[in-house]
Amino acid sequence: MIVVMNKRASAQNIAEVISRVEADGYQAHLSEGDERTIIGLVGESPTPLREDNYQSMLGVEKVMRVTVPYKLASREYHPQPTLVGLNGSKVGENKVLMIAGPCSVESREQIIEIACAMKEAGATALRGGAFKPRSSPYSFQGHGEEGLKWLAEARERSGLPIVTEVMDPGLVEMVCEYADVLQIGARNMQNFTLLHAVGESQHTVLLKRGLANTMEELLMSAEYIMSHGNQRVMLCERGIRTFEKYTRNTFDINAIPVLKARSHLPVIADPSHAVGYSEYVTSVALAAVAAGADGLIVEVHPDPAKALSDGRQTLNYDQFRDMVARVQKVAEAIGRSA
Ligand code: PEP
Ligand code: MN
Repeated sequence: MIVVMNKRASAQNIAEVISRVEADGYQAHLSEGDERTIIGLVGESPTPLREDNYQSMLGVEKVMRVTVPYKLASREYHPQPTLVGLNGSKVGENKVLMIAGPCSVESREQIIEIACAMKEAGATALRGGAFKPRSSPYSFQGHGEEGLKWLAEARERSGLPIVTEVMDPGLVEMVCEYADVLQIGARNMQNFTLLHAVGESQHTVLLKRGLANTMEELLMSAEYIMSHGNQRVMLCERGIRTFEKYTRNTFDINAIPVLKARSHLPVIADPSHAVGYSEYVTSVALAAVAAGADGLIVEVHPDPAKALSDGRQTLNYDQFRDMVARVQKVAEAIGRSA
């Protein structure tokens, strides 16, 4: 249930509603908009919720049942878009976020070189995995903490904030020391212990949709993170598994407008993992931006054929520069910038 306060509600009115919520055994989550404050009732309590009890309180405009199982992540509860701060810019605002870099951090020299090239080419953040979720235990698993140190050095040299994956709840604290954004990979979207740990971290999280998960399940995973106190969540559509074999996954373009309508969180598109072939990445990136994505995360490497992971879907520098130029045109066409 949510309690929508009216425009003239005083701080005292809001405090009284919060006390009532707590006395009823629920947690009160505040969403303060420019115009009005919304108080969400979350959690379980033996006290049944009665709309009437709240409706008659001073300063209350209306009381509504939230019809979706995710509350904190829903648009109903938080009508204004959430803007996630990142290195001085706000994701979810007009400018399209451009996260670029290799699938894996391969060496110190490699990541520093790519970081500077990405900055030069117009990227707004650097990606690179130090802990890699590989389908085969025999494939390159990443350089671990050493890779994180190289990423931190790449940030110093390029000024780009770092997006990197964390796979283990026990390593969240360590990854937070180096990263600006914690990526939860598709395979871990429903690793609830991990979601709990990043929820307590207060670090910005890029939550990727699982290979076979619905949008509702993605939003429930966002709710896990948010219910542990971290509201800095970005959703990521990275393709889902279908019967189609000519691409690695199928990019669900529907997810962009639907997630934006259902949730106030920024939505990022990953065309690289969605299609799996570099020659299609730019087309899917353009479609995602046209559909309203707040950002892109794209794999780039100076020599994709030599990449230690995901080379087939990775753009080279020229292809990335061409993508950026075309994304800028699409962004401008829909009243945004990139
Ligand atoms: C990645 O970003 O390199 C990655 C492994 O992504 P996903 O979890 O979407 O497969
Ligand atoms: Mn990858």
